[in-house]
Amino acid sequence: MFRRLGRTLTVTVFLMSLLAPLINRTAITSFLRPITRQATVRAMHIQSIPMWEGTGNNYAYLVTDDQSKEAVIIDPANPPEVLPVLKEKSDSGAIKLSKIINTHHHHDHAGGNVEILKSFPLPIIGGKDCSKVTETPSHTSTFNIGSIKVTALHTPCHTQDSICFFFEDGSDKAVFTGDTLFIGGCGRFFEGNAAEMHKALNETLAGLPDDTKVYPGHEYTKGNVLFAKKVLDNDAAIRKLEEYSNANKETQGKFTIGDEKQHNVFMRVNDPDIQQLVGEDQPVEVMRTLRQMKDRS
Ligand SMILES: [Zn+2]
Repeated sequence: MFRRLGRTLTVTVFLMSLLAPLINRTAITSFLRPITRQATVRAMHIQSIPMWEGTGNNYAYLVTDDQSKEAVIIDPANPPEVLPVLKEKSDSGAIKLSKIINTHHHHDHAGGNVEILKSFPLPIIGGKDCSKVTETPSHTSTFNIGSIKVTALHTPCHTQDSICFFFEDGSDKAVFTGDTLFIGGCGRFFEGNAAEMHKALNETLAGLPDDTKVYPGHEYTKGNVLFAKKVLDNDAAIRKLEEYSNANKETQGKFTIGDEKQHNVFMRVNDPDIQQLVGEDQPVEVMRTLRQMKDRS
């Protein structure tokens, strides 16, 4: 019995030694590659910088490519709250700031540019009406921040120069929406109309992958939930958002485009319940009526 097992082992070892030269290095490395790639997947680093907390409740965002340290600052509208972060991180070598990005021209988004430029004389990427803008990317054009791919998405309505910026790093996806899309809401139609907001939310942004995290320009979630509940008072997705916003002060980056399609009434203009409630059956008219209701609320 033992002798037979011994013989079998000897034969196996002999056969393996014959096969060894055939198992070449390429085969081994290609077998290992998916594992290695998984282990080295990098996620872009996003730091929220709250500004005018308690009044405007704005957010600036510092986005860094972990490997190259290249970084951009999005909507650094209040320099006294943003510059100390940028200076500390630049001085310590944690970031190499390469661009200033603006989502639109409003003062509480682009109003810090002049002051920021004094410390960081960098290109300003943003809508055509943004203070000191050096480049307005065309719709769907792309640029890179290290390994992060950025796509500019024109979403005119809140302002005509509103641009959302879609960031992709491997499987990690984020969209910076300024005052176009908020968690559970949307911006006022200052320079545009319902058809434009419908296109911005329900075609352009809804067309992004569902797992894209949403980073809006303001923390407005609690107010948006109050309004959403007036529209639909017993909706599971809205209730879930309410629970989260009651328990958490900050909601940016915690919800995705897929979530917005569920809990954001402005992205549910085709929902029969909402259509019946507002007394309209055309998506653009639903959008117009919802915004009018929100403006009056
Ligand atoms: Zn605005």
